[in-house]
Amino acid sequence: MKSRRAFLQHSVFGAMAAGSVEFWTRISAMPETFRKGNFPAVIATWNNEDATKAAWEILSAQGRALDAVEAGARVPEANPEDSSVGYGGFPDRDGDVTLDACIMDEFGNAGSVTCLQHIKHPVSVARLVMEKTPHVILTAEGALEFALSQGFKKENLLTETARRAWEEWKVKSEYKPVINFERHDTIGIVAIDAQGRASGACTTSGLAFKMKGRVGDSPVIGAGLFVDAEVGAAAATGLGEMVLKTLGSYFIVEEMRRGKHPQKAAELAIRRLAEKYPEQARENQVGFVALDVKGRHGGFGLQPGFNYTLFQQGKNVIYESGSYFSK
Ligand code: ASP
Repeated sequence: MKSRRAFLQHSVFGAMAAGSVEFWTRISAMPETFRKGNFPAVIATWNNEDATKAAWEILSAQGRALDAVEAGARVPEANPEDSSVGYGGFPDRDGDVTLDACIMDEFGNAGSVTCLQHIKHPVSVARLVMEKTPHVILTAEGALEFALSQGFKKENLLTETARRAWEEWKVKSEYKPVINFERHDTIGIVAIDAQGRASGACTTSGLAFKMKGRVGDSPVIGAGLFVDAEVGAAAATGLGEMVLKTLGSYFIVEEMRRGKHPQKAAELAIRRLAEKYPEQARENQVGFVALDVKGRHGGFGLQPGFNYTLFQQGKNVIYESGSYFSK
């Protein structure tokens, strides 16, 4: 009997030889269960109005949710003022800006990059990992090589502000992965388009001054993001270590599958990590957003201060979420 490894090698390389992207990753039929709902709609973590606006422009022109979430995620990635995503993101403790991102479409296809350096738009690289390779995750040097082979430009992503913040941090070099409680911009964004197709993306520079090679939840399918076109989608922000250990986004989608409203599902995911990791939960922030196939949404944080942005029925609205802990 063939070993599983041999089987995987056989199928992947056989597919490569066949030369068809579709052969590897595409599921041809749309789920039959797409329902009518309050679409299109897009929701993003934090005050990411410009991102949801960019996504809405595509959604309101009957575009595909996948294009919308990619366009939305690219907004903070390109913003040098944004210290937790893309260009301008704070570096790791060695001074290197390393980026994590993922994307998932309505067919359940997914792509992801981790520890990617020098490329301003990791979400777009993640999309090409999904569309042009037989893999889901490419990391570090391999992800960079792939990005360059796809025509992405190598850039210096360390802004002067980020470099100064790193220099200041180095004075004490205190390594404690505590996440901002409020108002930062790591973006998890999920959308359902006018045809009921769900997709999501997530992109971040991760924790400021993290250990070299540290990867958070954001590029991990099921943790920072999960999409199931028959149910809905969810995304996370905050201390990745907590989200990774509870697979928060997957948890939310599964709760919605069992009939929970997105709000209730997000609350349950936060409660799960607060109860499982009470000490870590006390000192850190995690926030989730969720959207279901009826166009209903939800958002919830561990701590007060989490907010999120929803563009639906032509209105771009920032919501202050409820939280598990009070001040
Ligand atoms: N979730 C991200 C990480 O842990 C950070 C964030 O959302 O700010 O890498």
